Amino acid sequence: MQPDQLAAALADLDCRAQRRRRAVLGSAQGSRVVLDGQSYLSFASNDYLGLANHPELIDAVRQAADSWGVGSGASPLVTGHSALHQEAEVALATFVSRPAALLFGSGYAANLAVIGSLTGRGDAVFADRLNHASLNDACLLSRATLQRFRHNDLNHLDDLLRQSRAKTRLIAVDAVYSMDGDEAPLAGLAALAERYDAWLYLDDAHGFGVLGDGRGSLVGLPASDRIVYMATLGKAAGVSGAFVAGSTALVDWLVNRARTYIFSTAHPPILAAALLASLRLIERESWRRDKLQAHIARLQGLGNDNGIKFIASRTPIQPLIIGSNELTLSMSNRLRQAGIWVPAIRPPTVPTGSARLRISLSAAHEAHEVTQLVEGIAAVLAQG
Ligand SMILES: *Cc1c(COP(=O)(O)O)cnc(C)c1O
Repeated sequence: MQPDQLAAALADLDCRAQRRRRAVLGSAQGSRVVLDGQSYLSFASNDYLGLANHPELIDAVRQAADSWGVGSGASPLVTGHSALHQEAEVALATFVSRPAALLFGSGYAANLAVIGSLTGRGDAVFADRLNHASLNDACLLSRATLQRFRHNDLNHLDDLLRQSRAKTRLIAVDAVYSMDGDEAPLAGLAALAERYDAWLYLDDAHGFGVLGDGRGSLVGLPASDRIVYMATLGKAAGVSGAFVAGSTALVDWLVNRARTYIFSTAHPPILAAALLASLRLIERESWRRDKLQAHIARLQGLGNDNGIKFIASRTPIQPLIIGSNELTLSMSNRLRQAGIWVPAIRPPTVPTGSARLRISLSAAHEAHEVTQLVEGIAAVLAQG
């Protein structure tokens, strides 16, 4: 791409209804948000439990700021790893019942770091076709051979693993698929990892806090040192960053080899304080998950009554596949005119021809707001 080609390339994105534009948020997260100066009922955030603007998190940040200030000053290996980070790592490892955990500045950074620290040239990464972009990038950066298997197809994965001559094999999946809301067949994946002596890397960005009493998708899987668990902390946990949990040796290896951990400034300690407050709420307030499940059931039930076919998903991600980019964008715009914010998700985020409205529900919503959403979608669909 040359400097003088940018304008034409952007115009081309416009023609294909693929140009992205940001709206400026003028409020905290919640069921209603202000975007570009207008108030909307929002189904766009991943704040599934309604914790991003919770008073206990805000208090924790205020108090921590008094003792710890704002910046962390350096990477964790230099002087950035504070007592608050240490406490948060122990709390996270305990919460997901694994021996050790390590905090990262983001899920993207965690994915790049872990896959790159465990695999390299001559190794192979087996990745579901619908994995998150950050996992795909992690595979490319690791220089391992990337082998993609059909979505949730254990037989296809089995074939690929059987034929592989790689020294180290790593299976990488989203535990909950970010644009579809469905779940990976974890027990079957764990069995294949065992049979073929492979790592199993689980990206639980959308399951942590929501599934397994908040403990995420690991719950119910046999404990194994070949399973590497990653969850992000900017979604249901309402804070920022991510953590990786696994064996003590794994975490020690990451401290020594994970490039995005070693060569990046530590997360501010106030965020570790917010996270500790968030973990207490995730553990204590199961009503948030119950409320979310009630919203999911309401959306699916009202959808059925109105002939609207949401993808079957028991997670807060409830997509409505439309197909064409133009129609999806126009539906999203018409909902917006009705005061409802639902993002249009288009390629390359999802496969060509599967553009969709991605609804995400939250415990911050009220039942009548879910009803309002379904009525809004039914009205827009009736217009064609
Ligand atoms: C959001 C997301 C990430 C990236 O996490 P960040 O903390 O936002 O960088 C990684 N994987 C999946 C599946 C995600 O949805």
